[in-house]
Amino acid sequence: MIKVTIWNEYRQDRDIDFIRAVYPEGIHAALKQGLSAPDLEIRTAVLDDPCQGLSDEILDSTDVLVWWAHAAHQEVTDENVKRVLAKVNSGMGLIVLHSGHYSKIFQAVCGTSCSLKWRESGEKERLWCIQPFHPIARDVPETFVVPQTEMYGERFDIPDDARTIFMSWYEGGEVFRSGVTLERGYGKIFYFSPGHESFPIYYQPEILKVIGNAIRWAAPLCRGIISAPCVKNQEPLYSLEKNKE
Ligand code: ZN
Repeated sequence: MIKVTIWNEYRQDRDIDFIRAVYPEGIHAALKQGLSAPDLEIRTAVLDDPCQGLSDEILDSTDVLVWWAHAAHQEVTDENVKRVLAKVNSGMGLIVLHSGHYSKIFQAVCGTSCSLKWRESGEKERLWCIQPFHPIARDVPETFVVPQTEMYGERFDIPDDARTIFMSWYEGGEVFRSGVTLERGYGKIFYFSPGHESFPIYYQPEILKVIGNAIRWAAPLCRGIISAPCVKNQEPLYSLEKNKE
């Protein structure tokens, strides 16, 4: 079983009527229901929970953390970002969704501003899978449409080691690297852009398939603490022995 924690800021989907109409129990609850599977043990946490939903108890028992946030990035304490980053470096998977591109944790993982262009007009988005052999693309069509979306456009300020799995084209003409992977320490990270709060994107089967695949891909194969150990040689150092003679 992969232990998944879906973390949601849970502000706009709680407080704004037309968004609550799309996600009555919150985005985290919709994702939990849509991703439900026998191999996933899913729980949810929100910003207003004790310890901002990021207690040691939660992080220590999380294989993959899914992160949705938009309006309250700055409320997440630097201390908690540091703790989440340490967990990623030691092997915890991290799936960052949509406006999470501007979260402190994604910026910390990337080391860049993670800025992009945007337009909230409800236009059509067409995604293209350009790495069909990647585990995140398993059983995902080569191309599919999100009927109404928020446009996210290039340039997306992420580091060059981000590997593009999905690219998007928007009705208004922009393009965007909408699904990218990163590796940091022992941890695997996937950013996936579809998921604007006022459109029912997290009910769409292709979107849930991608996120579910990403969770399974990001589940840790091994964990370790990043350190810089001084180590003994595995083989004899003949040249040094010679110098001693
Ligand atoms: Zn949005």
